[in-house]
Formats: sequence, C-alpha cells, structure tokens
Amino acid sequence: MNKTVKKIGVSLLLVILLPLLIFVVLEISSLKENEKVIERIYENQLDAILFSVNQYSEDIAGSWRGRINSSIALNEPETSAFREVTKNFLNENPSILTIIISDEKGNSITIFNNDNANQIEKTDTKAIKNFFTNNSDKINRLFLYEKSGYLKIEPVEEKLLPGSSTLLFLLDAINNESKYCVMLIDAESFIRLVLSRKILSVAQDEFAVFVYNSDIKIGFNAPANLKTDDVKIEKALWLLPEYKLGITLKSGTIESLVKERTVTNFILILVLTLVLIAGLIIVFRNIKKEVELAQIKSDFVSNVSHELRTPLSLISMFAETLELGRVKSDEKRQEYYKIISSETSRLGGIVNKILNFSQIEAGKRKYHIEKVNINDLAENVVNTYRFHLQSKGFKFSYELEDKLPSIKADGEAVSEAVINLIDNAVKYSLYRKEILLKTGITNGKVFIEVRDKGIGISEENRQKIFEKFFRVTSGNLHNTKGTGLGLTIVKHIMDAHGGEVTLESKAGAGSSFKLNFNLKDEK
Ligand code: ADP
Repeated sequence: MNKTVKKIGVSLLLVILLPLLIFVVLEISSLKENEKVIERIYENQLDAILFSVNQYSEDIAGSWRGRINSSIALNEPETSAFREVTKNFLNENPSILTIIISDEKGNSITIFNNDNANQIEKTDTKAIKNFFTNNSDKINRLFLYEKSGYLKIEPVEEKLLPGSSTLLFLLDAINNESKYCVMLIDAESFIRLVLSRKILSVAQDEFAVFVYNSDIKIGFNAPANLKTDDVKIEKALWLLPEYKLGITLKSGTIESLVKERTVTNFILILVLTLVLIAGLIIVFRNIKKEVELAQIKSDFVSNVSHELRTPLSLISMFAETLELGRVKSDEKRQEYYKIISSETSRLGGIVNKILNFSQIEAGKRKYHIEKVNINDLAENVVNTYRFHLQSKGFKFSYELEDKLPSIKADGEAVSEAVINLIDNAVKYSLYRKEILLKTGITNGKVFIEVRDKGIGISEENRQKIFEKFFRVTSGNLHNTKGTGLGLTIVKHIMDAHGGEVTLESKAGAGSSFKLNFNLKDEK
C-alpha cells in the first residue's frame, strides 16, 4: 500500500478508532456497574414498600389503642357504658377476637369477646394471670418505653386462644394505676381485611406482595405463576412476627429486568460502534482511492510528457537534417520523410486519445449510430494496419465469420476501439509477435476480437486495466510507453453501445480482448 495511504490509515486509527474502542470498553464495563446500582435502587424501593405496610399495621393498632383509651377516659372498664362502646368497637373490627384489660399482674381483669369469636371465659383468669407473670419482662419494658414517651405495641408469642395472635400494650393509667391491654386477633382476617387495603395501594400494577407463614400463603396482586419462593425481599410483619411479608416484581425478576436493559444497551453500543467502523472504512476507502488517483494522475502527466517528447525530438531532428540539405541520397531522404510522417501520426494519435478521453470525461462525446457491417469494419482496419504491423515484424492474420448480421453502431468509434486494442497487442507483445483479428457470433452477440501472444495480464490487474490512467507498472512494462487511457476509451465506447468488453488472458501467454455487441437491440 502507498505510504501516504498508510499514514492516513494510521492517523484515522489513532484519532477515531482508538478513542472509540476505549469508549466502548469503558461503556461495556460500566454496564455491569450500572446493573448493580439499578438493582440496589430496586431493592431499596421494595424495602420501602414493605416498611410502609408494616408502618400502616402499627398505625392501625395504635388507632385501636386510641379508641380503647378514649373509652376508658370516660368510663371505667367494668361499667356498662364502656361495655357498650367496646362492643361496637369489636363489631367494627371483626379481626379482633378478644380484648383483655388488666393491671400489670393480671388482677382486676375485664374481658370483651367479639360475638362471633371463640370466647375467653372469666374462668380463664388463671391462664391470664400466668400470661402476665410469664411476660413480666415485656410488661416492664412497655412501662419504661412509656416513660420515655414511646407507646409500643408488643407482639407476644404465647397464645391465650389457639389460632390467634397476641398483642400487648400499655393503656392510659386509671386512678394512677397502670392498665394493660392484651388483644387477641385473628391474623388471617387482619391481613385480608385490614392490611390488604394498604398492600394493594402500594403494590399498584407493578408488584406482587405475599403475606405468609408455613401454613397460610396470601398473595396480593400476584399472577398465578408467582409463588412465595419468587419473592425478592422478605421481612417479618412487625405486629405478627410469625408471618413474613414478601414482595417481588409482577412481571419477571429484577435481575431479568436489569439484564434486559443491559442487553439492550449493549446491543445499542455495538450497533453504534459497527456503524462508526463502517463509516470509517468508507472514509478510508475514499481517501485511499483519491490518493491513488492523485498518484496515477501524476504518473500520467510524466508518461504523456515522455510519449510526446520522443516523436517531437525525432521529428525536429530529421526535419533539421533535411532542412540543412545534409542528406545526399534520395533513398535516405525518403526514409526521413517517412519517419517524420509516422512520428507525426503517432503524435496525432496520442493527442487524439487525450482529447477523446477529456470529451468522455466531460460527457460530451457523441456517437453517430448507423448500420455497420463488422466484417467490412474489420477488413478496413486490416487494410490500413497490415503493412504497418508486418513492418514491425508481426504475423497479422484475420478470420472473418461469413454472413454476419450487421449491427447498429458508430463505425468510427468501434474502429477506434479496435485500433486501440491492436496498438496494445503490438506494445505488449515482446517475443511472440502474432496478432489475430477475428469476427463471429456467439450467444446472440456479434463480436470482434483482437488476440495476441504477448506478455498477458495477471489476474489481479484484469479489472483494473480498464480504469482511467491505470497502467501495469511491474516487470518490463515501464519501458513501454502509454497513457493508461486506451482501454478506458474502449470500455466507454462499448458501454455507449450497450455492449461489453471481455478479456481472456494468461500471464506470459497472451491476451484476447473481445468487443461484444447485442443483436436483440438491433432489430
Ligand atoms: P496504455 O497501453 O497506454 O498503458 P491502456 O489503457 O491501453 O493504457 O492499457 C492499460 C494497461 O493494460 C497497460 O498499461 C498494460 O499494462 C495492460 N494491457 C493492455 N493491453 C494489453 C495486452 N494486449 N497485453 C498485455 N497487457 C495489456
């Protein structure tokens, strides 16, 4: 590859590709980090939701205590007025089974049973007394909490009623005597009737929440495919510690959600990178083409100068000799005239080629299409060139197919193309000097072929030789003069005729250029 192209390639690589790769690597490595951050944020959110459910249950229990306290402030527990109020309260809250109000020792007990619940009888006073004795630690703690202004509601493991959960809390003192309340509640109905409202409001459409222990599993907002095993975060219910509160995303896990995002981001980065790399390749290719073209153009200028200089100096040298009358014999003079004439026509040929090419480039070349007999055209070329070729030591033969249909073409342009091919066959046949001009018809196409036994064209150059200014620069070829325009003109002429040039060649063994004309257009 050309040095300049290499330099540009390396700069592109350093300035664009390298930073791009660093950026991609950083982005991809930070994807994992982002994944963790998002997961943490989600977990915190789930945590906060469970916290708010717990807080709500405490608030509810706190409001119950408030109700009992306000009744006690008006009427002592034993009075019928108190009983009435409490009965209503229990009716409103079916998840409360029993309320027991007592002092800290379990004496002076008042029991209120919810109508439709198992009854705790007065005769159970012994059990109640035991309950207070067993939980004296908790009672003392509640008392201390209250002194420091914290009204705690304490869940107690011990069950006074089978199947119920127990809450214990301090009530306002009556006549300076501390009163405690033991509240037995039906956990399941508390969850279903009271907690459900809050849970459904925080879960919205996004989350599924479960409240469960080993026997009971209650799902809120949970699709059938989700089980308690799927919960992402699990916390104990503060008021009912034997129950767990669990939460998870309704659709898929957080991991899969985050993974999905990560994969999408990853694909996006990858696609962007590929697009950028593709863009870079296109830019590089264009630059490479331009640099090569610039190189080729400068070669062209030096080639053409060289091509023009040789005939010009020959013409001027022989003309000067003749002018000075130094040539004595008629024979020599005749020979010099011939050289001047042939060099002039060579000059004309080169100038014509360049003019033709510049016309083609400017899109100004016009073709005069008429009926052309390819055999007549070939014969004309043979007649004009036979002597010239034979004098150069070429064996020039021709094979013309009988009764060829005529084609529609610009005869002059096609002759020019054939002459360019013959010129090349002459220039690039160094040892075996044989040229065959052939016409024929194959696959519905009329062709005229120029075949030589010259140096041939290597496979890698077979396409390139039709590009403008392109010349094969290896081997002996740099000695052969040329402009790199001959085949470009041939190809253009054939394109303008809707035909094509085909080339068969073997390096070292010769080449065959065929001009193929479509017949179906001619009818
Ligand atoms: P020029 O002959 O002026 O260099 P052309 O466009 O006619 O330009 O040809 C381009 C290149 O193709 C030539 O430089 C030569 O290397 C190669 N070429 C063309 N014709 C032949 C041929 N008959 N045999 C071998 N090489 C050829």
